Amino acid sequence: MTYLLKPGELSLKGENRKNFESILKRNLLTMLRLTDARVIMTTGRFFVICGEAAAEQVEDALDHLVGIAGWAKTRTCEKSVEAVLACCVEVGRAFFDQGGRTFKIEARRTDKSFPLDSYGIRSEGGRAVLESVPGLQVDVHSPGEIITVEIREQAYIYGTGRKGRRGLPVGSAGRGLLLLSGGIDSPVAGYMMASRGMGIDAVYFHAYPYTSEEARNKVVRLAELVGRYSMGIRLTTISFTKVQMRIKERAPEGWTTVLLRMAMMECAETLARRRGDKCLITGESLSQVASQTIENITCTESRVTLPILRPLIGMDKEAIIRMAETIGTYETSILPYEDCCVLFSPPHPILRGEAETAGQLYEQLELGALLETAIRESTLEKC
Ligand code: ATP
Ligand code: MG
Repeated sequence: MTYLLKPGELSLKGENRKNFESILKRNLLTMLRLTDARVIMTTGRFFVICGEAAAEQVEDALDHLVGIAGWAKTRTCEKSVEAVLACCVEVGRAFFDQGGRTFKIEARRTDKSFPLDSYGIRSEGGRAVLESVPGLQVDVHSPGEIITVEIREQAYIYGTGRKGRRGLPVGSAGRGLLLLSGGIDSPVAGYMMASRGMGIDAVYFHAYPYTSEEARNKVVRLAELVGRYSMGIRLTTISFTKVQMRIKERAPEGWTTVLLRMAMMECAETLARRRGDKCLITGESLSQVASQTIENITCTESRVTLPILRPLIGMDKEAIIRMAETIGTYETSILPYEDCCVLFSPPHPILRGEAETAGQLYEQLELGALLETAIRESTLEKC
């Protein structure tokens, strides 16, 4: 089997292109390491060649690969007009058999010695399909199937194929540390940064026994799901029970959530610096909940100097949910296990915390030693 991959934004990146291409190739090979698949790069195209048995795995990998605009299973043949037309007919017939009714042909020719030019391939190909597959019609404006012919080192003939995930290959933009909760938002945030080429480490703050082992398993599962796009995730679990108890003992009730967020950020930053992560990533979205008003976000980030990326900041919940559904994390995110913050959230949280007050209250918590112990006792796993 041969699959043809179309790089997306890669082609726009001039000088860097070779580098991006080699990262994409490396990622693909890693994803396919347990198969017989080979990856071949030519100018502007990638090909994956594998035996029948690996087809399903290859297609699954291509559906999760960040950095391609699209892919299609392609037929290959010698560069003769008869062979190419015969392949066009085969693609047209397969489409018709699946209920398709309209098509058009597109052609690209890098080998100029082929006897037909692009226009000739389109018209002869169209004629051959119309003659051999009665019932199929040409529609140049909105065809059900686009049959593409590419004449390169050999001839490639393929149907519309599937859309790729676009973006830039993971590993081309450093690593970031994702604050991953069991909710809907943070897995989407991780996916969005991975699709800009960023490698993802994750940290989960656990509050056992107030949050159950199931809650943690759910986060591990979410890390695995996002990891399918981000070439894996290294997940650190940090026990925050003592930190939460300290906050409950010493802070005014309305402030507990904001102070807990500040502590998470400070702890995450320390971890990020040790791991070589260049930024923090959260699933925050402006004003979605009390802790995410612009004033409270200002408090939350006031202890941190690393950049904090919030890819969902301007998105509404509907759009975030749709995205969670398309990347396949939604079902897991809505499983019922309690989040540590829900358990400790006050009935009347401060809505517009003042950063200076936040700083003073935070100092009074004297969390230094607790945070250091929490990091020392953290656990790390590869998802
Ligand atoms: P999510 O759906 O991602 O849980 P949310 O809408 O529930 O987000 P919050 O609970 O206010 O919002 O959390 C805001 C962000 O803080 C989350 O998106 C996540 O990045 C981080 N966060 C919250 N709780 C935790 C946790 N227990 N461990 C790690 N990160 C967390
Ligand atoms: Mg949450």
